[in-house]
Amino acid sequence: MSAEALPAHARMHAVSDETRSIVDLVLDYSRRRLLTTDTPLDHASSPSELTRLAGRTISEEGIGANRALAAFEHVLAPACITTDHPQYLSFIPSAPSKAAMAFDLVVSASALYGGSWMEGAGAVHAENEVLTWLAAEFGLPEGAGGVFVQGGTIGNLSALVAARDHARRTRVAAGGSPRPEGGWAVVCSAEAHSSVKSAAEIMDVDVIEVPGGESGSLAASAVREALEGSGERVFAVVATGGSTNFGIVDDIAGVAALKDEFDFWLHIDGAYGLTAMLSPLARDFFAGVERADSVIVDPHKWLFAPYDVCALIYRDPEAGRLAHTQHAEYLDILTERAAYDPSDFSIQLTRRPRGLPLWFSLATYGAATYRDAVTHSIALAREIADEIERRPGFSLVRDPQLSVVVFERDGWEKADYERWSDGLLEAQQAFVVPSSHAGRTNARFAIVNPLTTFAQLSAILDSME
Ligand SMILES: *Cc1c(COP(=O)(O)O)cnc(C)c1O
Repeated sequence: MSAEALPAHARMHAVSDETRSIVDLVLDYSRRRLLTTDTPLDHASSPSELTRLAGRTISEEGIGANRALAAFEHVLAPACITTDHPQYLSFIPSAPSKAAMAFDLVVSASALYGGSWMEGAGAVHAENEVLTWLAAEFGLPEGAGGVFVQGGTIGNLSALVAARDHARRTRVAAGGSPRPEGGWAVVCSAEAHSSVKSAAEIMDVDVIEVPGGESGSLAASAVREALEGSGERVFAVVATGGSTNFGIVDDIAGVAALKDEFDFWLHIDGAYGLTAMLSPLARDFFAGVERADSVIVDPHKWLFAPYDVCALIYRDPEAGRLAHTQHAEYLDILTERAAYDPSDFSIQLTRRPRGLPLWFSLATYGAATYRDAVTHSIALAREIADEIERRPGFSLVRDPQLSVVVFERDGWEKADYERWSDGLLEAQQAFVVPSSHAGRTNARFAIVNPLTTFAQLSAILDSME
């Protein structure tokens, strides 16, 4: 039976002339986007403007692939900021490698399922090789492993859920109640990422926020005080391996040493910064990570993978499995076998093997290429920080530790920063949104793209003169 003779209800799935032209259209577009060097920064538009330009695209009959793709290419895509642009320097940019971006198409084209070994053994095997490699880079012992989840927020939540589950089990095994007097609490720094507080809110546990020291990093002495005050209640301490706003690394070694005296789960939130362990310029800042019970790092931030992916790694994956395995009649066939099922290690069940683009890119280029690219960002951050210190009228807010540089233009108010930032985007020169610290507005470069240059950053400083 020829594909064309298939019934109408199978039109979308048949391999037909229509399908061939749709696939060509989409792959041609993808190829162009991947190989273009001058994709503009672009900018958001209003809903009414987008409705006006794109028109109604959803109807009973469909508008066809040509028109739908034209709406995407000419109206919708230009209303999305180009996050892999070398002069996108806000928040934490993304800078996926070409191999990783291209391979993301393969993951979709192959309809891979990454939740269970039974269904996705090959994909899971490759993802696990990457997790094992990362765990070794972080100094974690053999046997450490986990799962790639959607992002750092889900990673932090999943790790903390496992930490509390572990604490409950430990108490119950010792004959205690599963909940301490006063309820569970997690300790973190005032500069910890908002997702840690959000996880605590979801879990209905308290956050004991300890103030950062002069440098903004969580000090072991402050954690000790918190543990001495409410140790019974604390099931986890979260140390940040590179804060989002400043790229500052907590005193991880000092906090980890407290494990000798106190019983707590050490979680490292390294969503942005843990990648810096790949570089000899920064590795030493992370002493103590080897004692972590769990860590996260977002490959969509500084490991050159496309959105959206977070590596969640447990020192002992069994703790993750105990906390997260879902039980249901239709899942028994999976849970009764002793296979490695990624779904057992986080709050997500169904998952695409979202670690594969990173796997392909890492396999293609090799780890040394990654180290060079990460080192470039750190070196560039230091270089532009020196330039900022040198320029009259500019002040560094803090010395950069990783690849985030925060600075002020002397005498500027919030409105000045906003006007300047809007102007930069309007001119399509750069995307640098104002940030703030301790109530003062500032400017901030977050550098992760290997194509970002000193000349580009200097030109942005010139625009503030
Ligand atoms: C970005 C970030 C997160 C959140 O990660 P998402 O992938 O955005 O969910 C958590 N912690 C830190 C330190 C981050 O930089």
